[in-house]
Amino acid sequence: MGQSMIPMSKVYQEYLIDESKYTGEAQSISFPESEEELLKILAQLRDAQVPVTIQGGKTGITGGSVPGGGHILNVSRMNRVKDSCLSPDGTGRIVVEPGLNLMDLQKEIFARFRKEQMFWPVAPTETSATVGGIAATGAQGITRLLYGDSRTYIEKIKVIDGNGRCLELTKAEELDDFLGKEGITGVITELTLILVPCPEEMWGILFFFEEERGALQFIDQMKTAGQESEGRGAQVASVEYLDGRILSMIEARKGTMSRIRELPEVASDVDGAVYVEIHGAENGIEEIAEGLMELAAEQGSDPDTAWAVSGSGEVEKLHAFRHAAPETCNLFIEEMHQKDPRITKLGTDMLVKEENLWGQVQTYRADLEEAGLQGCIFGHGLEGHLHINLLPDSYEAYEAGIRLFRTWAAEVLNGSGRVLEEHGAGKLKSRIYGELLAGAYQEENERLKSTYDPKELFNQGNRFTAGKAGEV
Ligand SMILES: Cc1cc2nc3c(=O)[nH]c(=O)nc-3n(C[C@H](O)[C@H](O)[C@H](O)COP(=O)(O)OP(=O)(O)OC[C@H]3O[C@@H](n4cnc5c(N)ncnc54)[C@H](O)[C@@H]3O)c2cc1C
Repeated sequence: MGQSMIPMSKVYQEYLIDESKYTGEAQSISFPESEEELLKILAQLRDAQVPVTIQGGKTGITGGSVPGGGHILNVSRMNRVKDSCLSPDGTGRIVVEPGLNLMDLQKEIFARFRKEQMFWPVAPTETSATVGGIAATGAQGITRLLYGDSRTYIEKIKVIDGNGRCLELTKAEELDDFLGKEGITGVITELTLILVPCPEEMWGILFFFEEERGALQFIDQMKTAGQESEGRGAQVASVEYLDGRILSMIEARKGTMSRIRELPEVASDVDGAVYVEIHGAENGIEEIAEGLMELAAEQGSDPDTAWAVSGSGEVEKLHAFRHAAPETCNLFIEEMHQKDPRITKLGTDMLVKEENLWGQVQTYRADLEEAGLQGCIFGHGLEGHLHINLLPDSYEAYEAGIRLFRTWAAEVLNGSGRVLEEHGAGKLKSRIYGELLAGAYQEENERLKSTYDPKELFNQGNRFTAGKAGEV
C-alpha cells in the first residue's frame, strides 16, 4: 500500500457513511491534496484492481459516496481556488478544485468579485457540499426555478478517468458523461464555474396557512396566474412547500439550530407554508409580491402573519429555515438509525408532471395512511417536485416505506415524470428501486463504463451499476 493510502481503522469510521445513514465498508482511505498525488494513488489502485469510491463532503442522501469495499478516495482536501476572471460579457469565471465546499466558494466569490458582485446560482442549501459532489450528483439549488440546473453554470471540467487519462472537457456531450453521473466515469479534479451578476434586489416571503389545502391551492393558482414570470424586470426564483408536520418538527428543534434560532415562532395552528423568493428590480418585485399577497389571502393566509424580508442577508435566513426541513428529517433518521442500523433515510426525489398539486398531495396522504406510515412533505412545489420523507419508527415501517416508494415509482414510470431528479441514485436508491429503474440506465452505463472505466473500478453500485454494497 502506497504512502498516501491509509489502512482503514476506527479513526476513519465516519467515512463509511453519508447523510442518508447508509453504511458501507472499506479497506483503505486517502486524502490527496493535489492532482499529482491523486494520479499516483489511482495508478496504484488500478494496478492492484482495487475498487474506488470517490468522496466529497459526504452530504449526499443516497449513499453515493459510501464505499462497498475497496478504497475511499476523499478529495475534500483538494479545495483550492486556482484562478478567477471577469468575462467581456459581464459574467465571471472561477476555477476551483473539487473539494471546495459551497460556503468557502461563496466567500471566495465575494472576496474576488467585491466590486462586480457575482454569484454562482447553484445553491443546494447544504453549504458543506463540495463543488465536485454537486457536479457529480447534478444537485439543484433552491432558486433553480429561475436560474436553471447546475450544469448551466459549469463551463469546463478536468477529470481523471478509469484508464488513467487526464481529460479536459468543455463540449456539452462530454460534460454530460461526468456531470450527474455520480462518479461512475472518473474523478472530477477541477471545475471552471460560470458566475452571474447578483440580482438588483431579492425578497423572500414565507406565507402561512391554517389549512394544507389553502397552501397547495395557492401554488396551483400561481401556476395558472403565471406569477413566476410576470412583473416588471423581476421574476419568481423559488416556490417551496412545507407541510404542517415538518413545520412543527422544525419548531421543536429550532432552539438547537443556530441559523434559525432567532426567527419568530410558527403558530401551532399552521398546517402548511409556502416560501416564495423574487429576484430583480424593486418595482417589479413589489408588483409580483402584491399579486401573491392577494392570491395567498384568497386561500386563507393572513398577510400579517407572513415573514417578508429583503436583501441577500435576510433571505439567507429563510433559506436556512427551508434547509431545516431536510436537516430535521435527517436528525430523526439518525436517531432511528441508532436504534436499528438497518434504518436509513427514505425520501422521494420524484418529479411528477401533475397540474393539481393539492390533488397530488391528497393521494400521497391517502397512500401513507393506508400503509400505516408517518411522513412529512416539503419541496419544490411549482415544479411538482416534492420530497416525501418517511419517518419510520421501526424496521417494519421502513420496509413498508420501501414498498410504497416502489409503488409510487412504478406509477411515475407509467405516467410522465422522473423518479430521480436531483439527489442521484447512489447505492441506496439503486437498491430501493432495483430492477424497476436499472433497465433505463443499463445501456448508458455500459457505454460510459466501456469508454471511461473498462475495469469497472469507480463507484461500484452507484447509479444501478454492478457491485456489492450491502442490503437495503
Ligand atoms: C440537509 C441537506 C440538504 C440538502 N439539500 C439539497 C438540495 O437542496 N438540493 C440538492 O440537489 N441536494 C441537496 N442535498 C444533497 C447533497 O448536499 C448534494 O447531493 C451534494 O451535491 C453532495 O455533495 P458532497 O460534496 O457532499 O458529495 P458526496 O456526498 O461526498 O458525494 C456525492 C456523489 O458524488 C460523487 N463525487 C463526489 N465528489 C466527486 C468528484 N470530485 N468526482 C466525481 N465524483 C464525485 C460521490 O462519489 C457520490 O456519488 C442536501 C443534503 C442535506 C444533508
